[in-house]
Amino acid sequence: MSNRFLEFQNQVDAVLTRCSNGEITTTERDELVRQLQLPDEQWGDVWMLSPSREWFRKASGSDAWIHDYPIALTDPIELPPIAQMNLWQLARAIHDCTLCPLHRSRSRAVPGEGAPKADIMLIGEGPGFHEDKQARPFVGASGKFLEQLLNDIGYKREAVFIANVVKCRPPGNRDPQAEELSACGDYLDRQIELVDPKVIVTLGRYSMVRYFPGAAITKIHGQAKRVGNRLIVPMFHPAAALHQPKWRPLIIEDFAKLPRYIEEAAAFGQNGTTESNTAQQLNMF
Ligand code: URA
Repeated sequence: MSNRFLEFQNQVDAVLTRCSNGEITTTERDELVRQLQLPDEQWGDVWMLSPSREWFRKASGSDAWIHDYPIALTDPIELPPIAQMNLWQLARAIHDCTLCPLHRSRSRAVPGEGAPKADIMLIGEGPGFHEDKQARPFVGASGKFLEQLLNDIGYKREAVFIANVVKCRPPGNRDPQAEELSACGDYLDRQIELVDPKVIVTLGRYSMVRYFPGAAITKIHGQAKRVGNRLIVPMFHPAAALHQPKWRPLIIEDFAKLPRYIEEAAAFGQNGTTESNTAQQLNMF
């Protein structure tokens, strides 16, 4: 385990202790903590620890601080089976994963990011060029569009959870292969279990097929299907909507339905409803 992160943690803890001892005010504490930043020489990222001891990372080439956790602080020897991992342990396992050939060509794995409990989980296909460099999902042009779609319905990017069906970049952005999808399947299942979203939005073919095998996105986009106590909503991939202007208004309309779907799914657990009122019948064929 790299001790730079532990040393940094101790430095921040020393500031927090000075505040709890009454030597400095909370304003001074926050200012001192804000000044402490840890550069990650390997990747060019910068790390910070908040006064509430949550880690944040600013990836090289990005301005955004994202809630993350240094893999160097998770001991790989102590990792439980995937079905018992927490989100940070999953991230560590994914960064170390060698289950499929994609690990050989990746720069960095992209576990996914966002709120540890979220109303909405968005599932894309796989990392592209920029995602592979930053170890973050949806940071390129389609990510910007996704953020705009979320903002339009009153959600900040950090309030949802964003993941992909494959966690490592397929070379040249080719389609993920069956072996690669299956190698990542347990990671994604566990992320869904932990984040426990009310609504899952599938973005693109490969996440759609998990819930709607054989369906055509042009027929079923925006129509929710109930699975357990959540709704699954298939949508066009934002990159496809960027390339095909005729799909852009459709994805905007489909996102506008999400607040209603969230409300509907929130009621599932409470009143034991078995039928969905607004989740429309799928028109798959
Ligand atoms: N496209 C995806 O499906 N996922 C990403 O993370 C980026 C682009």
